[in-house]
Amino acid sequence: MPLPRIAQLLLEGQPGTESTVAGWVRTRRDNPAFSFIELNDGSCMSNLQIVVDASVPGYAETIKLATTGASVRIEGELRACPAGAKQRVELHAKTLQVLGVADPKTYPLQKKGHSWEFLRGIAHLRPRTNTFGAMARVRNTVCYSIHRFFQERGFVYVHTPIITTSDCEGAGEMFQVTTLDLDKLPRPSSVSGTALAAGAVDYTQDFFGKKASLTVSGQLEGETYATAVGPIYTFGPTFRAENSNTTRHLAEFWMIEPEMPFYELEDNMQLAEDFIKTIIRDVLADRAEDMAFFNDRIEKTILATLNNILAHDFKRVSYTEAVEILTTCGQKFEYPVEWGVNLQAEHERYLTEKHFGQPIIVYNYPRTLKPFYMKCNDDGKTVRAMDVLVPGVGEIIGGSQREDDLETLLGRMKECHLNPDDYWWYVDLRRYGSVPHAGFGLGLERMILLLTGMQNIRDVIPYPRFPGSAEF
Ligand code: ATP
Ligand code: MN
Repeated sequence: MPLPRIAQLLLEGQPGTESTVAGWVRTRRDNPAFSFIELNDGSCMSNLQIVVDASVPGYAETIKLATTGASVRIEGELRACPAGAKQRVELHAKTLQVLGVADPKTYPLQKKGHSWEFLRGIAHLRPRTNTFGAMARVRNTVCYSIHRFFQERGFVYVHTPIITTSDCEGAGEMFQVTTLDLDKLPRPSSVSGTALAAGAVDYTQDFFGKKASLTVSGQLEGETYATAVGPIYTFGPTFRAENSNTTRHLAEFWMIEPEMPFYELEDNMQLAEDFIKTIIRDVLADRAEDMAFFNDRIEKTILATLNNILAHDFKRVSYTEAVEILTTCGQKFEYPVEWGVNLQAEHERYLTEKHFGQPIIVYNYPRTLKPFYMKCNDDGKTVRAMDVLVPGVGEIIGGSQREDDLETLLGRMKECHLNPDDYWWYVDLRRYGSVPHAGFGLGLERMILLLTGMQNIRDVIPYPRFPGSAEF
């Protein structure tokens, strides 16, 4: 029979009933006649207080093994805590069993207040801290909320490939996947009659017969299902080999990409806003204790920020208006702004944090800045792109209405120096039953940053991958 979880006992455990619990010792305090154990099983932030009387069988030999980090199993009786205590109930032990010791001389999580850097080095143990336990539970609630949001709206969850031979152009640098022997690369001078450049690799001999990579986005494949089964979403790992050592980028992250037929840019914006607000509402409702911890210990303004986000419509600002604001606001930026340049993180943060003080959606970007698949506006200069920017994080969502006109799409590919033959199946969607459609990508870890107020994206995923680091 599965053991009751501590979260459940603290909430509804009845004084006078027998219970067996198991978990990891957070702290122990000894008195002459009894000991207190603060027991955590990960089901919630709170510990269950265990009272172990010296009369418990084997007390003298066993209790000293129940040190911080040790795992124990305890049978006992729940009793009401005295009025004014932190919890409703505590467990009075009848038996105490130490399942696994944790030598105090070597267990790394003895005292509190370790640096983030240190904890990253013990990523296998950091989930036993309050912060990383809370992070794992919040992350889980976010994922559940995401699936529920789409499932309730009739979206189909589609699994797009992780290994791909197509490049979702413009998204980022790719990690190559190969079974070729890197010390003995096949370098013929020609492949089936086509001359190869000197030193070129013959990928026909590689596993897939073509150069292959880890996906940077499931969008292109997502579009093929959206234009068949209706609105879809993907939710999977995404890889970018960008050598950016920032607090907002990972080499491996999780992305959610909905794609909707018969949606135009405005519908896309509305869905993105509803989506983010729903996740926030669910997390505030279902993880109140963990969120109170983040507000108390990590970022004092996080609950106020989240409630403020819920209280207002996202402000919609065209790229042209955004540039206008940035060039007339009098603020000094490291990267100067003018119409036609990419907005840098500092510009995005200024707009959402300082100027508007709330989430904004910047739309209609210059087409020269954006990938070939975004729908061109009639002005001939801009495309129907949209980025959602939020305080504390900057860009959290990137999306667009897609180009659905065959000739315009082919023209854009030419402009971007892409060969339509490499994207033949994607181009086919504009040949057979083309429809207006739109979609976006939300970075899961950026969402967790927004929710928790954590400063570094490396601390909101269990095992972060970034340049120079893939330990564990
Ligand atoms: P940025 O400008 O911040 O590098 P991007 O414009 O390259 O992001 P998109 O290609 O639009 O990102 O990807 C969609 C979303 O995926 C982003 O809005 C962001 O939330 C997330 N994302 C992108 N790159 C990363 C990364 N390296 N690590 C974590 N999340 C990312
Ligand atoms: Mn983007």
